[in-house]
Amino acid sequence: MKIIVCVKHVPRTQDVRIDSSTNTLVREGVESVLNPFDEFAVEEALRIRERFGGEVGIVSMGPPQADQSIRSCLAMGADRGYLLSDTCLSGSDTLATSFALSRMIEKIGFDLILCGQETTDSSTGQVGPEMAEFLNIPQVTCVMKLDLLYGDGKTTASVKRETDTGYQLIETALPAVITVVKGINKPREPGKLDSQRPVVRVDAGFLGCQPDKLGMDGSPTQVVKMVPVRHRSRQYAIVDGSLSAAQRISMLMTGGIKEKAGATKVREEPESAACKAADLIGESLALTQVMPSKYH
Ligand SMILES: Cc1cc2nc3c(=O)[nH]c(=O)nc-3n(C[C@H](O)[C@H](O)[C@H](O)COP(=O)(O)OP(=O)(O)OC[C@H]3O[C@@H](n4cnc5c(N)ncnc54)[C@H](O)[C@@H]3O)c2cc1C
Repeated sequence: MKIIVCVKHVPRTQDVRIDSSTNTLVREGVESVLNPFDEFAVEEALRIRERFGGEVGIVSMGPPQADQSIRSCLAMGADRGYLLSDTCLSGSDTLATSFALSRMIEKIGFDLILCGQETTDSSTGQVGPEMAEFLNIPQVTCVMKLDLLYGDGKTTASVKRETDTGYQLIETALPAVITVVKGINKPREPGKLDSQRPVVRVDAGFLGCQPDKLGMDGSPTQVVKMVPVRHRSRQYAIVDGSLSAAQRISMLMTGGIKEKAGATKVREEPESAACKAADLIGESLALTQVMPSKYH
């Protein structure tokens, strides 16, 4: 079993500066570390290797210093490290990053690709699924439990994946891309860092593809504007002592929002509730438009 784990070297701090001329993060001079979410993917790969044998390869695309993150994974117990690094890759959005990584992994060979849930610097969670699309293999995201099953001469993955409302149980054939959530395991402490362990460093030529698929040329994303995030003040539910127990529980569950007298209540599954709410908003807008101006 050849398991590839994708890891990213990310700024340690979230207090990063933006280059206003390019609308991109200023990464130079910022201390960087292994993306914390990726430690869970590395740990999961090591556990699979311990149970079923095989080898764990670490793949990262980034600047030359990204080999520090790869070395942290080697210190955890991974077998090999590969770094894709080339100045022509800078300015890559998620599509160009996923394309380059998928080409690289295809060249190395794999049975299973593990990714973290997201990174702490861009946090899109897109790279795993996009790689699966480029490689034309199945993907399962947000995996909280992973087992491998052997039968009829093939290996399948049996997974439990987190959803907004609970979980799903899925079986998928390998090879596949699986992204894991942070609660899936408890990552082991890395052993001593060994600066002599080789990390295979390759440039864009290794990918053997058209240059216009890489870096800025291969990145359709345009950052047109950046706006600072406004922090909302935290709201507390204040429960009215005159209410019945059931009413109080209902208030706590709705964040303390009281139902308005005469309001239209939508009590449905989230999807149909959203459709109904959209219809209601549409109707109310239409009403506003036909009302005489004194009612506005
Ligand atoms: C216009 C534009 C320009 C950009 N320029 C740069 C740039 O010059 N330098 C730069 O570093 N970023 C750049 N970025 C950000 C970069 O595209 C993303 O960080 C990258 O595509 C990964 O996306 P993400 O951080 O959202 O990862 P997610 O999709 O949240 O990551 C999920 C998982 O995918 C894997 N993964 C993600 N990235 C990598 C990687 N690089 N190597 C290995 N595994 C990975 C990890 O397992 C991770 O846990 C740019 C983005 C845009 C939109």
